[in-house]
Amino acid sequence: MIKRGKPTQHRCSFCGRGEEEVMILVSGMDGQICEACVEKAQEIIDQELRKPGGSSDQDESASGKSSRYSGPIHLIPPRDIKTFLDQYIIGQDDAKKVLAVAVYNHYKRLQQFGKTVGSDDVEIEKSNVLFVGQTGTGKTLLAKTIAKLLNVPFTIVDATVFTEAGYVGEDVESILSRLLQVCDYDVEAAERGIVYIDEIDKIARKQDNPSITRDVSGEGVQQGMLKMLEGAEVLVPPQGGRKHPEQKLVKVNTQNILFICGGAFDGIDKIIARRVNTQVIGYNKNQEERIDKDNLLQYVGHQDVKNYGLIPELVGRMPVVVHLDPLDLPTLRLILTEPRNALLRQYEKLFALESVELVMDSSAVDFIAEKALEYKLGARGLRSLCEAILTDAMFDLPTAAKSDKKQLVIDREYAREKLEGSRLGRLKAA
Ligand code: ADP
Repeated sequence: MIKRGKPTQHRCSFCGRGEEEVMILVSGMDGQICEACVEKAQEIIDQELRKPGGSSDQDESASGKSSRYSGPIHLIPPRDIKTFLDQYIIGQDDAKKVLAVAVYNHYKRLQQFGKTVGSDDVEIEKSNVLFVGQTGTGKTLLAKTIAKLLNVPFTIVDATVFTEAGYVGEDVESILSRLLQVCDYDVEAAERGIVYIDEIDKIARKQDNPSITRDVSGEGVQQGMLKMLEGAEVLVPPQGGRKHPEQKLVKVNTQNILFICGGAFDGIDKIIARRVNTQVIGYNKNQEERIDKDNLLQYVGHQDVKNYGLIPELVGRMPVVVHLDPLDLPTLRLILTEPRNALLRQYEKLFALESVELVMDSSAVDFIAEKALEYKLGARGLRSLCEAILTDAMFDLPTAAKSDKKQLVIDREYAREKLEGSRLGRLKAA
């Protein structure tokens, strides 16, 4: 029922204005709405459905609000991508090569949108990537570095914080909230970003758990991720967290978002061993001898990940599976000194800011690498070790005499003593 003009006690149930203050008041079962509030409501609907003609901020972003990611993607051939990665990541040649090809094809495909190549209309599907490798071997670093090269929005999310709808925790959709946040809600940029989903192995189905209660953080979450990984229009709560009815949602199409998933998959080597051994039996016996039992991860395949507890549909949406090698002593040593922003270079810079030359001799580098190997923390252990060894010096330096240039020499003995928590810094006049 629509009423015009005459003052009555009717008011808009949304803005509170009286009938005499508005042009049109539409009455419903339990209230009224004025023409201004209808318009506002329409804006919200447009925002959600991203209809052409919507006038919200988020629509502006969808139709071209710029961010620092608005520029063209910096796509170079796979060989050059690998060379770029080599500057930052030591070893992991297989992973680099496979990632370089997957990323190149993914963005090439994106650049070809709308162009006809050849006579047929073959549609190239995207290739999400799954990294399998121990903790601290460079999975996140690889994903992060490639996003930096391409100049696309990048975010890291941890699969363990997600739960099935209805449970306490974050909705799977909030993966995309973070991507939106890093590119300042530039939806177009987000739609060609890269998401690294860490600890994907932690949402594996627990095969040895006969509990009949629902698997809150396992299979349900995997199901939730399916659509997103494949490519779908997803309604995303811009601030993340759980969806709630009053929150405006932003529509994001995940078709061109590259998902890189990673996990340590502890114990998967046994699954691989079983498969590799049974495959070898009945074939060539010599093949068995060629299997490198110390690094079974290099043989990882889709079936192993499936046997580990990822549902086949999810595994199917990650066509590229690649392993990362465990880090050995020489690699850990190189990680400490070689990459462009190697830890040692970072500490040297920090000390230089205090006019002190930090000299870590090769015996100390060996010591740190040996300890990192012993602690089984991968390269992540290197930083903690350096911190433990250098904290005393970093604590004292800023208050030490600033006038004359100093040199701090760290050898194996110094490193060991500091690690064991004794003796103070050893500053030598240059
Ligand atoms: P993961 O994701 O595999 O657990 P990260 O990529 O987070 O491990 O690695 C942790 C840190 O260790 C990185 O920030 C990086 O400094 C260092 N690191 C790990 N692997 C390598 C590598 N292969 N080359 C250079 N640095 C590495």
